[in-house]
Amino acid sequence: VPTVPIFGIPVSRLNMQQTVAWLTEAVDSGRPHQIITANPIMVMKALEEPAYMKVMLGGELLVPDGTGVVWAANVAGMPVAERVPGFDLMHELFKVGETRGWKVYLLGSASEVIQATAARIKELYPGIVICGIRDGFFGPDQDDEVIGAIREAKADLLFVARGADTQEPWIARHKERLGVPVMMGVGGSFDVISG
Ligand code: UDP
Repeated sequence: VPTVPIFGIPVSRLNMQQTVAWLTEAVDSGRPHQIITANPIMVMKALEEPAYMKVMLGGELLVPDGTGVVWAANVAGMPVAERVPGFDLMHELFKVGETRGWKVYLLGSASEVIQATAARIKELYPGIVICGIRDGFFGPDQDDEVIGAIREAKADLLFVARGADTQEPWIARHKERLGVPVMMGVGGSFDVISG
């Protein structure tokens, strides 16, 4: 993947269509991949916290989600093809997933929100299989149980909405055990879809 370094963080220069194609191959590979929607808040946090930087550098694909990142790439003289917002990327993946019967696991947000999100996705993308849902309010003592349920569901895509401080480090820490081919933090996206 062609990238541009933003404060040492390699951000993908692929456009939306190329990103979706790359992620389709990732699903076919069966290997775990963490997709990170890079925005300036996350970049600043990485510069302040080495542990968060490690998470960012460990991502298999960092897409230019924020306009600030697109701007920084321009300043660096290596423009990205276009902005690739995580919210839009999730919808694009649902579209491809419909034709391929992909299984999707939704993790995060409040219980009512995640239920409404699953219902809305079924309405918009009938071909998508929601193989599991779970709210995002659990502690480390429940990690094993949550990860076990996700593994058992054999998801192709895992979307995690628990806030950027939590979701990216959580996916990174458990990436190999989770084993889902495409795992992405989506922040407040479930609140938007369900709303
Ligand atoms: N959330 C969650 N568990 C938590 C904290 C937040 O599931 O422990 C959910 C919250 O309900 C919301 C989403 O994560 O749907 C994003 O939260 P927020 O907007 O506060 O985080 P940000 O994206 O601003 O970091």
